[in-house]
Amino acid sequence: MRSSSSWRCQLSRAMRLALRWCRRRRPQRGAPGARLLELWSYGALLLKSLYSNSLSDGDTLLDCAFEPVYWIVDNVTRWFGAVFVCLVVLLTTSVVVIVYLFVLPTIISTYPSYWVAWHLSCGHWLLVMVVFHYYKVTTTSPGHSPKDKIHIPSVSICKKCITPKPPRTHHCSICNTCVLKMDHHCPWVNNCVGHFNHRYFFCFCLYMTLGCFYCSMSSKTLFLEAYDAIEVSIYCRFYQTPGPTETFPETTAQKSIIFLWVLTSTVCVALGGLTLWHMIIISRGETSVERHINNKETRRLREKGKVFKNPYHHGPMNNWKLLLGVEKRSHWFTRVLLPSSHLPDGDGIMWDFSFARSDPMAI
Ligand SMILES: [Zn+2]
Ligand SMILES: [Zn+2]
Repeated sequence: MRSSSSWRCQLSRAMRLALRWCRRRRPQRGAPGARLLELWSYGALLLKSLYSNSLSDGDTLLDCAFEPVYWIVDNVTRWFGAVFVCLVVLLTTSVVVIVYLFVLPTIISTYPSYWVAWHLSCGHWLLVMVVFHYYKVTTTSPGHSPKDKIHIPSVSICKKCITPKPPRTHHCSICNTCVLKMDHHCPWVNNCVGHFNHRYFFCFCLYMTLGCFYCSMSSKTLFLEAYDAIEVSIYCRFYQTPGPTETFPETTAQKSIIFLWVLTSTVCVALGGLTLWHMIIISRGETSVERHINNKETRRLREKGKVFKNPYHHGPMNNWKLLLGVEKRSHWFTRVLLPSSHLPDGDGIMWDFSFARSDPMAI
């Protein structure tokens, strides 16, 4: 009995296996078509998921399409951050060396003593301010949203850090963390510009622009002379006529002066434009990120017949005092015109609003 039941059992098992094999084989007969259909429905589902959300729009779609490009840019910026910092240090050092070797000796031998004193004080003051603020902006953390505290005033949750986002906080995809009062990620300082280093960044831009302007103006006469000399030597070489004989140190000095003038003039114009832009947005109580958000909000509310007000705008002068940490009149000298490591006002998490919460505001 046992053997016949075992035989039946084996048979029914074999039949079940055969049926299962047949069922599996059936869709494979039309495999390419089924596979295509499956791919099509998967693609359609993916496409629908891009605009199925009521909050999704063209910007979201563009963001998704450009995601690989953002990934490449973020990674390249992260990897080349140290290279950019080395470049800034190298170029600044080369400018300082050229000024010490060629510009200052000419100033000392040409100008009266009071002009020499002015040049020495102004040049060294700018150099100290540039070096101090660059060192501070690269080494000071911009401030991050606390990961261990849950009960903090927040406006949303960061989808990448899964932590509460306090007002004015934004996620930096290069640093891969949330930054308090984020302005932007600067590859030239290899750091994010945020609540705790915003002042250092602005002062660095300002003093670097002034320093480049100073170098450019101081070396203008020397540059014109060097340019003329090089032009004459090229002309003589081209027409094979005997020109003025110049030694190797003289040619090196001429080329160095031209390099100095071109570099400092270019940086002065480019960085001057950036500094001016930052001066405008600081006067409005905004960061670079908030400028875009506030513009969008202004347009959105205008369509509804409402006026947008920036809750962090306390008046141009107060905005400057808040950024620079000026609490009394003497601070303009001790904290702005001299190197100062004082901390900014507030912790970057709690913010004073310039008006009631019931008004529309940017987050
Ligand atoms: Zn984040
Ligand atoms: Zn960053």
